[in-house]
Amino acid sequence: MAVPKSLRATVRELDNHRCAYCQSPEILAVTPFEIDHIVPQKAGGKTELDNLCLASPECNRHKYARQTAVDPQTNHQIALFHPRQQAWADHFVWNEQHTHLIGLTPAGRATISALNMNRPRLIHLRQLWVKLGYVLSE
Ligand SMILES: [Zn+2]
Repeated sequence: MAVPKSLRATVRELDNHRCAYCQSPEILAVTPFEIDHIVPQKAGGKTELDNLCLASPECNRHKYARQTAVDPQTNHQIALFHPRQQAWADHFVWNEQHTHLIGLTPAGRATISALNMNRPRLIHLRQLWVKLGYVLSE
């Protein structure tokens, strides 16, 4: 089911026009961000606000239909970070330079790994955003 336009706008507002996973600002990206079904529709996820978040195309592509991923520290299969049920800052923190994300929890680490949230091109962009004075976290 396609996401109605008004719901898309509400999701964008709710996520502050940033990817709910990697926190990239949509306004500084070349391509529009996508509305992600946190629990995929295939798995019964509904098209409603508490199951939708804004996602950069890269995060969305890496997440695809996954709901779990391996925590690289423990090798355990872990539920991915859920942007509507969990607080971003409980699971992720920036390194000192604000270029790399660090997982604070198994869900944070598994999500960074599965969504490739420290991809080299994104790190390069974050360096530029920091130089521009753009604040990457709330
Ligand atoms: Zn992202």
